Amino acid sequence: MTKLMHVNCGTLRVPSFPTVVCHCLALQDDGGVVLIDAGIGLLDVQQPTDRLGTELIEAAGFQLNAHDTAIARLEAMGISCEQVRHIVLTHADPDHAGGLADFPEATVHIAAEELANLRSGHPRYVAAQFDHGPRWQTHDDSESTDWFGIPSRRLDCTCQAEVLLVPLPGHTAGHCGVAIGQDGKWLLHVGDAYYLKAELDDPNHPAGQLAAMRADDDNLRQSSLGTLRRLRDNHADTIEMIGYHDITELPAECIDWDESVPSEPA
Ligand SMILES: [Zn+2]
Repeated sequence: MTKLMHVNCGTLRVPSFPTVVCHCLALQDDGGVVLIDAGIGLLDVQQPTDRLGTELIEAAGFQLNAHDTAIARLEAMGISCEQVRHIVLTHADPDHAGGLADFPEATVHIAAEELANLRSGHPRYVAAQFDHGPRWQTHDDSESTDWFGIPSRRLDCTCQAEVLLVPLPGHTAGHCGVAIGQDGKWLLHVGDAYYLKAELDDPNHPAGQLAAMRADDDNLRQSSLGTLRRLRDNHADTIEMIGYHDITELPAECIDWDESVPSEPA
């Protein structure tokens, strides 16, 4: 049985918006630990202006705290860097990929389309976060397997639970969700397919408008949201769904600050 842990690996605060989190997952069993998304990294915290730049830090509202990184969170849970053998990335945006450098020996699973988008020099990505040379393992649609009607990609990551990359493109060209299956039930981490779950019910949600601006392809993003609505409406008994940024989807015990105290305006 694979133990599934929720881990907050970064916090983002923009004035007059709700605090958002970087909701990663850690899967642990005899085969080691698989990390789903890598959050903000220690180097981002230590060299923020060199790595991320002031403009991005202010626009995204990065809170730069060493304890708010995957490596520190896992260490606090008794998990060492060496135990993390695999990292699965939903996509390579800076709030998801910063922690990769803290686990240089891990195999990093990513959709082939996403790695191509990153290597194209697209300005949304932070090149310095990949300077250490991640051990990429790409997955393309030639390894498709049907997952609830979606051609998905099964990963071999020495984990007893099933782990699949589920293409949900639009936010970025190769953006994927990650489905984790065990005992006939699935947890689908949707990454940034929505920022806030309320977007599934409200097509005009302000977070959706921000997402539209940030999308590589907004038509594809809308179609991926439609896919999530279909899964929720037809398979709610089998599939639980969580996103990366919605603080209401992060278990309360992962929130180690007082959210009722307003932060200083930036
Ligand atoms: Zn994000």
